[in-house]
Amino acid sequence: MTDKIDLAPMSVRQLRSRRRRLVKSLPDIEGLITGSVVDQGRRCGKEGCRCTQGELHGPYTYVVLPRIQGRTRTVYVPKSAAAAVRQGAALSIEVQETLQEISAINIELLTRRKLP
Ligand SMILES: [Zn+2]
Repeated sequence: MTDKIDLAPMSVRQLRSRRRRLVKSLPDIEGLITGSVVDQGRRCGKEGCRCTQGELHGPYTYVVLPRIQGRTRTVYVPKSAAAAVRQGAALSIEVQETLQEISAINIELLTRRKLP
């Protein structure tokens, strides 16, 4: 996680070099997943099952995808894929932060009439 840094006191040269460093720091995003990983217990729906008394099955792992047109999609994650999915989701957060910072630098350069 990167702390928000104040770009205003930085020189144009510093901004550009920071931007270059950020671009170079972007990781391989092949495994990227934009979603959050959750562990949840489930009810099976069978009458008289212990889960109806609140003793849920699981927990199982799911990835909750961002809302599209108000609908949330939840995808079951098998144990064999859990580590990869967690890494992919963490990667997404890391990359978003870097993208936001690159954008902030570009906006700062724009306001100084130094873009491109
Ligand atoms: Zn049950």
